[in-house]
Amino acid sequence: MPTPPSRAGSVRLVGGRACLDLVNTVSWRGDPARREDHLATGADALTWLVRVGVVTAAESARLRPDGGRVLSSLVGVREELAAYVDAAVDAGGALREHPAPAALQDGVRDAIAHAALRPGPDGHRWQVAALDPRTPTRRILLDVHDLLGLPGARVGRCADGDCGWVFHDAGRRGARRWCSSADCGNRHRVRRHYARTHPPEGDVPGAAPGRLSGSR
Ligand SMILES: [Zn+2]
Repeated sequence: MPTPPSRAGSVRLVGGRACLDLVNTVSWRGDPARREDHLATGADALTWLVRVGVVTAAESARLRPDGGRVLSSLVGVREELAAYVDAAVDAGGALREHPAPAALQDGVRDAIAHAALRPGPDGHRWQVAALDPRTPTRRILLDVHDLLGLPGARVGRCADGDCGWVFHDAGRRGARRWCSSADCGNRHRVRRHYARTHPPEGDVPGAAPGRLSGSR
């Protein structure tokens, strides 16, 4: 069976930050049967990195021969981040109550060791300028560092347990339920409507609209 084309260039960006959208390059994290990794190759990783502004198109072209190393570095940090954010959400979502694990701290320390402090519109920020296969991962880790430094920073996870997408919960405490109200939120509304209008005794196997895929 042919592998479907990667959606690295089109998957929704709902995390609010590059580091959280990196976690969301896996769809359906909560359902092993549907789990879909959008970063299967180095080319996928570079497509996604350009899209979220972590590398420029020119940098992507220079990194292309090392795409495999870019990918493995990025995916390693993605899974550390996913575990950290999941644990933080399970503990209520407030990052200040959830210290970063040692591996993530080591990564941030390494990123800063390869960065320079540069002034910008939001004050001084660490920036990684030199380009090598770990540069994109280091830039993501500096985004993690910035997120952790935000007063009252909170993370949330889509209320659809199968979806598993995470986001920076920048609004009222815990108010955001869905990764996207047009996607998981809408699917939930359709499912609830169906349950209301189709009593259980009339159930036809396979007829429930639980697998509407939306556009994600
Ligand atoms: Zn969702």
